[in-house]
Amino acid sequence: MGVLEIVPAGVLTGDNVRKLFEYAKENQFAIPAINVTSSSTANAVLEAARDIKAPIIIQVSQGGSAYFAGKGLANDKQQASILGAIAAAHHVRTVAKEYGVPVVLHSDHCAKKLLPWFDGMLKADEEYFAHHGEPLFSSHMLDLSEESKEENIAICVQYFERMAKLGLWLEMEIGITGGEEDGVDNTEVDNAKLYTQPEDIWDVNLALSKISPNFSIAAAFGNVHGVYKPGNVKLHPELLQKHQVYAEGKLGGSKKPLFLVFHGGSGSTKEEIKTGVENGVVKMNVDTDTQFAYLAGIRDFVTSKIGYLKTQVGNPEGADKPNKKYYDPRIWVREGEKTLVVRVKEACTDLGNINRL
Ligand SMILES: [Zn+2]
Repeated sequence: MGVLEIVPAGVLTGDNVRKLFEYAKENQFAIPAINVTSSSTANAVLEAARDIKAPIIIQVSQGGSAYFAGKGLANDKQQASILGAIAAAHHVRTVAKEYGVPVVLHSDHCAKKLLPWFDGMLKADEEYFAHHGEPLFSSHMLDLSEESKEENIAICVQYFERMAKLGLWLEMEIGITGGEEDGVDNTEVDNAKLYTQPEDIWDVNLALSKISPNFSIAAAFGNVHGVYKPGNVKLHPELLQKHQVYAEGKLGGSKKPLFLVFHGGSGSTKEEIKTGVENGVVKMNVDTDTQFAYLAGIRDFVTSKIGYLKTQVGNPEGADKPNKKYYDPRIWVREGEKTLVVRVKEACTDLGNINRL
């Protein structure tokens, strides 16, 4: 039985999101969540998923959302981030079905100071729900991991009550992902916070499960955003098993009850990924590696064709030869899309998310 027998193609919402994650957990694979910043990157992600017959998660960060709307817009009140996230969501909704794959449309880390961005997206979800009976997005992440556990859970509960009415999935973070991403710098954070404790995960589960079963937890197991020299990062995905066992003990019976999310996945080994998936990771974020992949095709094209890119007319083949077919963005941006497609397929393959439709 493939994924399309359980959920439809296109953007998923409500219980369909949980059905997809349950299917992934049961069949021991995870779905990569790729950060997009433009229609070009979003289309490449969809193309990759279609080619390897797999569901996919497309996500926008706060900064990526602002970029989607345009760097020329002011963002002092998160207005560009709100508009860009909405624009990205509408773009993906418009084209996703045509690619024939199920898509989870998600927003990435939202810290306390960025809650106005979250509020704007949630308002758009409510408006979309009023017309279409489902939210605009599939899912949002709240990241209050820098706050106390009590405050983190309280804010998540407050938002999740509103989200559950619309059928939105919530991803929350407890424990801190180290490193630096999108302007949030956690490189100096205390080491103990980089490893979440099972009791903390259970407290989250207890509070959120009263509202809806549609949530996941990004637990810290030494994760760091970005890519560093090998040896600098100590990932312990085997610790995730403790959370599942602890929750199983409390719930009595149900195997691997928690939906877990793997942050800071760029640069991790195949073994670390495999251990994560075995312990209930259903989503792994990939940003740094796909950023580099998008550059690679464009860089190589510009480097190899530099003689054709300096003037509109005149290249190594002759002084009167036109260069339009080299500088047209559909040519050189497409080269970045092609290398991004390859890298997304690799991420899917590493997670076992291939031939799943
Ligand atoms: Zn992250």
